[in-house]
Amino acid sequence: MFFLRTGVLLLALGWIGAQAPAPAPYTVLSADGRRPLATRLINGQEMFSLDELSGLFQLSVKEDALAGGLAIVAKGQTIVLTPGQSLASVGGRLVSLPAAPARDGKVWFVPVDFVARALAPSLGTRIEVRKPSRLVVVGDVRVPRIAGTIEPQGTLARLTLDAAPATPHAIVQEGQRLLLRFEAEALDATLPASTAPDLITAVRPGDTPSSVVIELGPRFGSYRASEMPGDRGGTRIVIDVLAQTTAAAATPGAAGTPALPAPAPAAPPLLDLVPPGGIRTIVVDAGHGGSEDGARGPGGTLEKDVTLAVARRLKSALESRLGVRVILTRDADATVELDERASLANNNKADLFVSLHANASVRGSAAGAEVFYLSLDEYGDQAQRVAQGETEAVPVFGGGTRDVEVILWEMAQARYIEQSAALAQAVEAALRERVPMSPRAIQQAPFRVLVGANMPAVLVEMGFITNAEQEKLLGSDGFQTSIVQALVDSIIRYRDRTTAAVPAPARAGGGAER
Ligand SMILES: [Zn+2]
Repeated sequence: MFFLRTGVLLLALGWIGAQAPAPAPYTVLSADGRRPLATRLINGQEMFSLDELSGLFQLSVKEDALAGGLAIVAKGQTIVLTPGQSLASVGGRLVSLPAAPARDGKVWFVPVDFVARALAPSLGTRIEVRKPSRLVVVGDVRVPRIAGTIEPQGTLARLTLDAAPATPHAIVQEGQRLLLRFEAEALDATLPASTAPDLITAVRPGDTPSSVVIELGPRFGSYRASEMPGDRGGTRIVIDVLAQTTAAAATPGAAGTPALPAPAPAAPPLLDLVPPGGIRTIVVDAGHGGSEDGARGPGGTLEKDVTLAVARRLKSALESRLGVRVILTRDADATVELDERASLANNNKADLFVSLHANASVRGSAAGAEVFYLSLDEYGDQAQRVAQGETEAVPVFGGGTRDVEVILWEMAQARYIEQSAALAQAVEAALRERVPMSPRAIQQAPFRVLVGANMPAVLVEMGFITNAEQEKLLGSDGFQTSIVQALVDSIIRYRDRTTAAVPAPARAGGGAER
């Protein structure tokens, strides 16, 4: 639904100008400052005008009337766009776009993702597109992500703010508010609503682009702040806002409010923190489906049936053992595009993405499970993957199609490679305890289903369906149970490792292995 794979966009453009009001502009943050970048909604897809991008990034755009394409030169590299195709050729390499370029009069529009997927690689500049905060961050501009929670805890309210990457900051009290200033050009902040209004009335952006204001409530007495290493190389800032401890705080009107207990021990130790970034939602992807059978065993077992059976079992096991929400990319024998699978996970803010497959090999003896995470190395195991059939027919500029492994190096998964590697290691270790492993048990490969995933993501080849013995295993109840148990174990271990309780400052020597 979101991803239009082929070009049906161009024909319906007459109405663009008359459509609903334009969406809010993006802000481009660079060493040169801030600039707005307008977007236009075209067939449900947010787009930038190529004219505006040309001005911002010094591009030259040429229409190639003969080939019916657009050649965009950015720092000597050429990006070729073809009307009707949701692909761009960047210096000869193909990247996918969520939609084809669109035209209104003489102005061409490209999907917002064009900037990170096509422009950044050709400019050789780091460009991050942060859709939720509508930011385009160019170069080494410091724009940490800030997200937080407020937890009322008896006589205190604990404000926890995670800043990633770690960013120096200072906290000062100014009357009835605390001012938190970051050493940054701007903040990409998702601030929590107050759940303890008598202590913290509001947390809101400050007057400068890099500050946060904490408005204090009527019961405010004092505060204390601490910080510790957070998730994903970030900092966790914990600000405890403590209630007044004198009788003055307990107003006579507050009937039923008992006198406040003795102050000192009231604050729980930091070990009681809710684990940072705990796992709440997991997307389980049953590979293939519908018109795509996947690999077929010598006895006729289809990969798509095995993956669905295991996915369903894994969902119920994860839900009952971890109490997490599990979303299946398909719960029927249905065709689901690769891009849609990742986008389902992204749209549901999943914390993990696990794609299930069964392997195929021309060698009938190949056996054992393999765990993959994304390779950013463009030529990694391409030949092998192609041999295993994970290819796609793509249109080629100039006409025709050819089968290629579409390799992307989209920003989304690139940010999670290390965590995906850690997850893959946990999965591999847990599988090894329960099922036969291939000699190449852990690998990196440019799987398309993983590239767009905006969270740690792994792909599990549970066994070789082309091996008669393994085919029987894959279809068996006992083996499927073992796979599911191993995956549940690995996710628990991964969670415990990445969200290990951080020792309170007083016990800071106590081994905070991460
Ligand atoms: Zn597969």
